[in-house]
Amino acid sequence: MNILSQDIKYLQGVGPNRALLLANELGIKTVGDLLAYYPYKYVDRSRIYKISEIDGSMPYVQLCGQIFSFETIGEGRNKRLIAHFADGTGSIDLVWFQGIKYVAKTYDCRKSYIVFGKPTVFNGHIQIAHPEIENAPEHLKEQARTTGNLFETGQLSPLTSHLSPLTSQLSTVNCQLSTVNCQLSTVNCQLSTQVRPSYNTSEKMKRSGLNSAAMAKLTANMFKLLKEPLAETLPPYIVQQHHLMSYDEAVRNIHYPSSPEALRHAQLRLKFEELFYVQLNILRYVKDRQLRYKGIVFNTIGEHFNGFFYNHLPFQLTEAQKRVIREIRADMKSGRQMNRLLQGDVGSGKTLVALMVALIAIDNGCQACIMAPTEILAEQHLDTLREFLGDLPVRVELLTGTVKGKKRRAVLEGLVTGDIHILVGTHAVIEDNVMFNKLGLVVIDEQHRFGVAQRAKLWMKNNVPPHVLVMTATPIPRTLAMTLYGDLDVSIIDELPPGRKPIRTVHMFDAHRPRIYQLMHRELELGRQIYIVYPLIQETERMDLKDLEAGFEEISKAFPNYKVSKVHGKMKSADKDEAMQRFANHETHILVSTTVIEVGVNVPNASVMIIENAERFGLSQLHQLRGRVGRGADQSYCVLVTKFEIGETTRKRIQVMVDTTDGFEIAEQDLKLRGPGDLEGTQQSGMAFDLKIANLARDGQILTIARDTAQSVITSDPEERNPQNDILWRRLRELRKDHVNWGAIS
Ligand code: ADP
Ligand code: MG
Repeated sequence: MNILSQDIKYLQGVGPNRALLLANELGIKTVGDLLAYYPYKYVDRSRIYKISEIDGSMPYVQLCGQIFSFETIGEGRNKRLIAHFADGTGSIDLVWFQGIKYVAKTYDCRKSYIVFGKPTVFNGHIQIAHPEIENAPEHLKEQARTTGNLFETGQLSPLTSHLSPLTSQLSTVNCQLSTVNCQLSTVNCQLSTQVRPSYNTSEKMKRSGLNSAAMAKLTANMFKLLKEPLAETLPPYIVQQHHLMSYDEAVRNIHYPSSPEALRHAQLRLKFEELFYVQLNILRYVKDRQLRYKGIVFNTIGEHFNGFFYNHLPFQLTEAQKRVIREIRADMKSGRQMNRLLQGDVGSGKTLVALMVALIAIDNGCQACIMAPTEILAEQHLDTLREFLGDLPVRVELLTGTVKGKKRRAVLEGLVTGDIHILVGTHAVIEDNVMFNKLGLVVIDEQHRFGVAQRAKLWMKNNVPPHVLVMTATPIPRTLAMTLYGDLDVSIIDELPPGRKPIRTVHMFDAHRPRIYQLMHRELELGRQIYIVYPLIQETERMDLKDLEAGFEEISKAFPNYKVSKVHGKMKSADKDEAMQRFANHETHILVSTTVIEVGVNVPNASVMIIENAERFGLSQLHQLRGRVGRGADQSYCVLVTKFEIGETTRKRIQVMVDTTDGFEIAEQDLKLRGPGDLEGTQQSGMAFDLKIANLARDGQILTIARDTAQSVITSDPEERNPQNDILWRRLRELRKDHVNWGAIS
């Protein structure tokens, strides 16, 4: 039997109890699973600090010195053991709260030790709690005893200089694959014990002694078993083409790097491989889809499109809108089913593109369906489309959860007979009882809320699948798009309609309220309107609602001469609509709301967007909200209000908003600051989430190369007959079995 599929239970140091923990907490059931459980960081153990150098802000330090006395303090649960530790440049306390007997028994005074741990400050004193301790190696002992200062001898400096760039290199494995050359001959084996892996473990595991160090012992035991080189997981020609480290070397070095160089190559190899298989999975799925489904051919540009274009279009299309419509048209007459992502910043005019594309579908005897993420947005789309269309003979209807009874039956019937040309709706349109006469186009105006599986469900409404256009509400970073929407072709609207003034954005603290009111007064006097938005993480959270109510009261008092209204998710749909409508008609001046107004809402006369507790919003959400103003010709303002004490990352995020209005830039920064796991929508996909080692925020270049490589495999071996690629299809099948989300795509 293959060692890798062996039950983890039988590995030396595991046993039934730990096996259970490993399986439940980390999903590690076999030796192979452990092999694929990579360290999350490495600690440079070559550098030995002087006690005089360290402070409480350092992540981890290694010291060499002697314990000169032990002391037990406190009683019962507060009992702790303190070892006074010195190295000739100073002294610190080592502290244990548990295992006190063991420690006192194991370590001796006046013996030389290497101590490793995270310094913290307690009562103005630096200490290290539960440090790792080892006997100092022979060559260090003498110095530890005499001077306690190793650096004066210069003995360690060559090692140190070798390793110091390590941490910075780890975070940027962004080198071009083609230029990578593994120089394993230069690997310095002396270093192998100096760089140690750190593994993430859960609290539950730590309580049972399965901490990072214990995990490191297990992986060491595992490598004792794995004497034979591990089988390659990529075809040799791909390994050679990109000068990759072999799989065997890579996994050994990822756990126990023989040098910083080797670690870098190991990471590169494993990141490439991971991204390559994700892309191979997506692209093979795309190929299957193309083989399986023919697309409806839209040859005609007829009276609907032309009638609109020549007689109803209220303004010139931007060049970007024209280009995107051309790209979509080309898809829709190709005989292949269109699956396209339309990216464009807030206010770039995607709705109009959707409408014009829908008119092409109608010209070819088909119906179109436009889906929005919320009811408010769906309703607004309906109004917008009807207004655009004017007296053109195109019937547009709405279907949401609140369309019921007779009205609903009429809509369902109109769809079946084909009397309805365009259906606008929410998730409600994917329900099974919604059937079309001939659905030719689906437009999904989404906020990253539809997964691949949901999109697929829409196709089942026809024998021939409709063309699919996905529009993102805000731009998403390229790397994320390639993964989340990797099965889609991409069109980008990179131009805003002319005559828009960039919105001026400022960050203010709660204490600045008088200045904020000043700005509000000024704009109101000019006849403008104002949004004030409160965060609402969950529509059910009462706390948030209280904030909003209090804000509403305060604003009503401060602006007695103006009409203030409020909108939140707890209100009845009809009341919500009425409040929105009154604001849109300029019957009210200030709208206090939760994020229900986030998407789509269009009131060009509004010129101020005030976002309360701005720290609680994601960047793309802030960008969306800000996009509600700046829709008219006047200067608009966005005020981001936070409390005075905010963290470093929050400050940076707010600063990004102040510095730029470019949605693509904001999306990239958001990915960098938060990481892909936290971005909205990545959860559904699972793809971006499942990554073990690659990071979409940083590994864009590797991703591009991985995708190109996967594409060329599929193009050059479409029938999968090349025996060199066998290894690759086999691996893909295994991976699909292991990753639920991967299967969802096929
Ligand atoms: P988004 O891409 O955010 O969905 P919208 O489709 O809501 O943007 O468009 C924003 C506003 O710009 C709307 O009022 C729309 O009518 C207007 N608009 C769209 N295209 C143009 C254009 N080519 N010229 C001028 N205004 C336009
Ligand atoms: Mg829109």
